[in-house]
Amino acid sequence: MSSAPPVPPASRRLDELRAPDIERLISERSIFVQPLGAIEQHGPHLPFNTDLLIAERVATAAVERIGADLDVWLLPPLAYTKSNEHAWSSGTIWLSADTLLRVLDDIGRCVAQTPARRLVFMNGHGGNSALVGVANRELRLHHGLMTFLAHPGVPPDQGGVSAADEHGMGIHGGTDETSIMLHLAPELVDMDAATRNVPDGLIDNRYVRFGGSVGFGWLSNDFGDAGHIGDPTTATAERGAELVEAAVVAFCEALGEIAEFNLPM
Ligand SMILES: [Zn+2]
Repeated sequence: MSSAPPVPPASRRLDELRAPDIERLISERSIFVQPLGAIEQHGPHLPFNTDLLIAERVATAAVERIGADLDVWLLPPLAYTKSNEHAWSSGTIWLSADTLLRVLDDIGRCVAQTPARRLVFMNGHGGNSALVGVANRELRLHHGLMTFLAHPGVPPDQGGVSAADEHGMGIHGGTDETSIMLHLAPELVDMDAATRNVPDGLIDNRYVRFGGSVGFGWLSNDFGDAGHIGDPTTATAERGAELVEAAVVAFCEALGEIAEFNLPM
């Protein structure tokens, strides 16, 4: 009497696999994608879960599109991350930098216990980027993983672009992020509450500006009580749909390179 063949997994979500699937399906060439969100104020017009929703949707769409070809597996999103630039805002729930570094190290330790060797963070919250860069090196050193940091779009304060009217400063709840939310979850957006809040006083600075060669520490209420930084009033769902599709395409292409990536030694 032969036993029935194993039931194939219904999805490429790690949390939906069964224990024997790890040995059966996960190999050295498998890629794990960990979405990083945030639960933080996004001004009066966007919900607390903006970054979480964007990271999760882009990661999910990319894994659905190329996961089977490239052996990519989706981890459950991490909702709470390092949002202390919004610590003043009631309803923001944040981890300290030290805590998040520990959490990322713990996740990496568990990933390293599987045969997979590639861990990709799809990070929806720009405030995490510097710390994830540090974590990626720690994870390489401590657990021997190959680690990667991707974003749905390069944040404007890290070299990405934002709408012309925002002068490179649409970094939080501005045109692009609001457009994406109008596309993904319009029922969570209150466009009647959207106002332009761009720090125009920084426009003429050559060095000390968002994305400039001289960085500066900031909190979101340094730019007013509204909490967002950018111009959501020109956001459209059509622009959001284009940005999301571009983000998914770019992430699929990046995963193709990650699958082939090797460190020479
Ligand atoms: Zn955001």
